[in-house]
Amino acid sequence: MEPVSFQHTHSSTIKTIGIFGSTGSIGKQTLDVIRTNPSLFKATILTAHSNADLLIEQALEFFPQAVVITDTNKYNQVKLALEGKDIAVMAGEEALEEAAAMSCYEFMMAGIVGFAGLKPTLMAISNGKNIGLANKETLVVAGDVVMKMAAEKGISIIPVDSEHSAIYQCLVGEDKNPIEKIILTASGGPFFGKKPNYLVNIKREHAIQHPNWSMGAKISIDSSTLMNKGLEMIEAKWLFNLKPSQIEVVVHQQSIIHSMVQFEDGSIKAQMGLPDMKLPIQYAMAYPNRLKNDFPRYNFTKSAVLNFEPPDIKTFRNLALAIAAMHKGGNMPCILNAANEIAVYGFLKNRVGYIDMTEIIERTMATIPFIENPSLEEYFESDGEARSFAASMINI
Ligand code: NAD
Ligand code: MG
Repeated sequence: MEPVSFQHTHSSTIKTIGIFGSTGSIGKQTLDVIRTNPSLFKATILTAHSNADLLIEQALEFFPQAVVITDTNKYNQVKLALEGKDIAVMAGEEALEEAAAMSCYEFMMAGIVGFAGLKPTLMAISNGKNIGLANKETLVVAGDVVMKMAAEKGISIIPVDSEHSAIYQCLVGEDKNPIEKIILTASGGPFFGKKPNYLVNIKREHAIQHPNWSMGAKISIDSSTLMNKGLEMIEAKWLFNLKPSQIEVVVHQQSIIHSMVQFEDGSIKAQMGLPDMKLPIQYAMAYPNRLKNDFPRYNFTKSAVLNFEPPDIKTFRNLALAIAAMHKGGNMPCILNAANEIAVYGFLKNRVGYIDMTEIIERTMATIPFIENPSLEEYFESDGEARSFAASMINI
């Protein structure tokens, strides 16, 4: 990570924000932060996949310079609704990259879910934008390419994922001090403590309910299978330049400690607070400043019990697969991610059983050719091959 500056005066210029995935859970909370801090931030790009109604509503409230709807069937609806408003309306997948290259914003909130977020984020980096990275799949798929390009362009990738934001915050002022290890906390998800025979019958509506966080559908399923924590281990490896052996996961059900860093003297720093994604979102947007807010505060005297235990990777095998992919390196995390996206979408459509998701990922990892040092094109190819193979098992 780049040197931390200790300047504490808030700059008076407004930071322009491109919110990619503005209609999602991260996107909406980013707009909440902008709504309460209009003198600091302005949303100048909003993008949505197919929720045209919400995109229009957001555009009419925030008046960005451009909006993108990737579902081209919705273009006319958006265009018509925003006529005469001086807002450029773009449509289609390529329009995301076009928007990412625009000069009307300086900071990208990367809030698209899945592999679809990779190309626009790469485009933003190559255009010198700083990134608030919620889209962890970007680093899981092509972390080496992304971090290298970010270093070449001299831009910052500030994590929004709460665990990685916690680690980032713990590292402020520690530039020269090597990390011994990081400890990623996991809530354990809705099925914590359950055994494999219980998992067999889980349906969409059970899995989508997370105990501590309200999030998009895909990450909610990933949290329930612990795949989310596996993806986060790989994300952390690239963000903080760590070896797999330096990354530990501990289940901490209360989600008060968001993650920890252990230094070479054995000292451990933790970042804590009530679970609220607006905190890591606003931290990334205002970095290196902290913004005053009225979010509820954690009270140690009211709920003083914090538990910690190891994750059960025998029951939650997706985490074991992700750890294996992280150790293997090359295109294996990309294959894991693609198979997982297909499996999760199949599960969300009631086409795939809960534990069958693991089977799909495992078989895809065993089938798609391994590449030790893939190029960006090879990552795209591996993603495509893994998706087709995984989909062939589901019949979708
Ligand atoms: P979400 O499903 O609520 O929103 C996803 C957004 O991406 C929507 O705006 C949608 O329109 C857009 N989108 C979906 N598919 C697209 C496609 N193919 N092309 C273009 N746009 C597309 O998801 P979310 O929960 O906001 O998560 C977004 C990202 O942030 C994920 O990578 C997730 O892992 C990460 N994240 C989310 C949370 C959270 O609390 N929600 C926490 C940590 C990290
Ligand atoms: Mg997280």
